Amino acid sequence: MSLCIVWLRHDLRLADNPLFAFDRMPENLVCLHVLDRQWLSPTPALGVPRVGPARLKFIWQSLMALRGELLKRGSDLLIRVGDPVDEVASLAECHGASEIRVRRDAGHDEMRDVRTLRTRLDGRIRLSEHDSGTLFDTLTLPVDVESLPPTFSAFRRRAERNGSINDPLLAPVTLPPWPDAVSRGLPALRGVCQYAAAWKTDPRGQFHFEGGEAAGHERLEHVLWQSRLAMRYKQTRNRLLGADFSTRLSAWLAHGCLSARQVHQAVRQWEAEHGPNESSYWIIFELLWRDYFHWAARQEGSGLFGRRELPTADATFRCWAEGRTGVPFIDAAMHELAATGWLSNRARQNVASYFVKDLGGDWRLGAAWFEHCLVDFDVASNWGNWRYVAGVGRDTRDRWFHVLRQAEQYDPWGRYVTHWQPSLRALPAGRARHQPWRVDPDRYPPPIMIPKAWEDRLLAIHEAVEPDE
Ligand SMILES: Cc1cc2nc3c(=O)[nH]c(=O)nc-3n(C[C@H](O)[C@H](O)[C@H](O)COP(=O)(O)OP(=O)(O)OC[C@H]3O[C@@H](n4cnc5c(N)ncnc54)[C@H](O)[C@@H]3O)c2cc1C
Repeated sequence: MSLCIVWLRHDLRLADNPLFAFDRMPENLVCLHVLDRQWLSPTPALGVPRVGPARLKFIWQSLMALRGELLKRGSDLLIRVGDPVDEVASLAECHGASEIRVRRDAGHDEMRDVRTLRTRLDGRIRLSEHDSGTLFDTLTLPVDVESLPPTFSAFRRRAERNGSINDPLLAPVTLPPWPDAVSRGLPALRGVCQYAAAWKTDPRGQFHFEGGEAAGHERLEHVLWQSRLAMRYKQTRNRLLGADFSTRLSAWLAHGCLSARQVHQAVRQWEAEHGPNESSYWIIFELLWRDYFHWAARQEGSGLFGRRELPTADATFRCWAEGRTGVPFIDAAMHELAATGWLSNRARQNVASYFVKDLGGDWRLGAAWFEHCLVDFDVASNWGNWRYVAGVGRDTRDRWFHVLRQAEQYDPWGRYVTHWQPSLRALPAGRARHQPWRVDPDRYPPPIMIPKAWEDRLLAIHEAVEPDE
């Protein structure tokens, strides 16, 4: 009796999932997801778990939805909380599995787990890894992973010239039965984590993320066919307020409820009906960024996280993370992040730049805080973007964001800052709402986190830009 274990990690879907594309159907199948206990415990550096409540709840919803789909096809899902390698190995050994299938993930921990599992199994059980979730796979990628270009532009040019993107795979119609000897079922979310069970996204975020494959497809459908974002994405993607200025597909992509190839195919279908335009092109362009960070992470392994030990969070970090820097644009974004688990790309770039370039913070602390907060955390995109903004790693160009100018450009009336900090509504609409020295000293106990070097910059900015009162 052949038993296959499909070990699902960041690929919580049935369609376009090569783990379910068997050359020869096994007689029995077990689908397993392991929540890494370590990721649910506070880290020494920040004192919070790597997986925060917004993401854990989304993952949970995705697992519930996946279980429903698996049950419909004659299978089921087993969820364990523990050490992934121990859980997978003991299940496989105990029930005499013949094969374990797993996605080839970009994260260093995920790669290490597969290596450790392989050593532990010592060739007794076949362990196969499969590319999944990205636009390209190792066969269609236009370059070798080892010789990935150091810049995105060079990668994009090659991808657009020579890369081919396969059509997504269909979901399996039926699946092999669950073996009688293997228990099924899942613990309750409340038992796993009280704070995730109680997590409710702040309605000021104007959007509700609901995990699962069907919810992901619903969002994709909405974005392309109802909101017609592909007509205007290039113009709206840098906005800060609203549900439909960007796709918001990141959470479903990060947990594999959707694959990038599915999004790519849906955009191409939309283009076939409406004709391609710069906005539809730009959605694919952003997916190429995602692929680039994925392949870069695969190439770099542990190098992605920097070489030194992560320092412990200090007062500067706390002010930034809690949205108490005294710079309204930055604080608004940090409030939004904590309250909703999501931030627009524009806001992410600004708060990252401010933390690293202006406050002199260690970029890895910032990345670790994002990792805790984000509903759409994806190891390659998060740590890759942080390195990119910090100017470390593969591309060391200086990318300082002038956050006051950015605030004035992207939030000219101060609607975003007042949305997240209503006390600023007392100030006249416009520039006045972005000025650091206007903040209420009772709400921002000294020292306000305006860096020394900034005082000169601020003076220069405010000499050039008169407050509009
Ligand atoms: C410091 C920092 C940290 C980030 N951390 C993450 C993260 O953990 N997870 C994550 O998915 N994205 C991350 N991003 C990238 C980007 O901000 C988000 O993907 C995007 O804001 C998600 O919103 P959206 O789905 O509406 O994106 P859209 O603008 O609609 O873009 C469509 C899709 O393209 C991909 N994408 C867009 N921009 C980027 C980018 N710069 N890098 C990689 N992929 C991109 C995403 O999958 C996104 O869903 C980070 C960016 C920065 C600057």
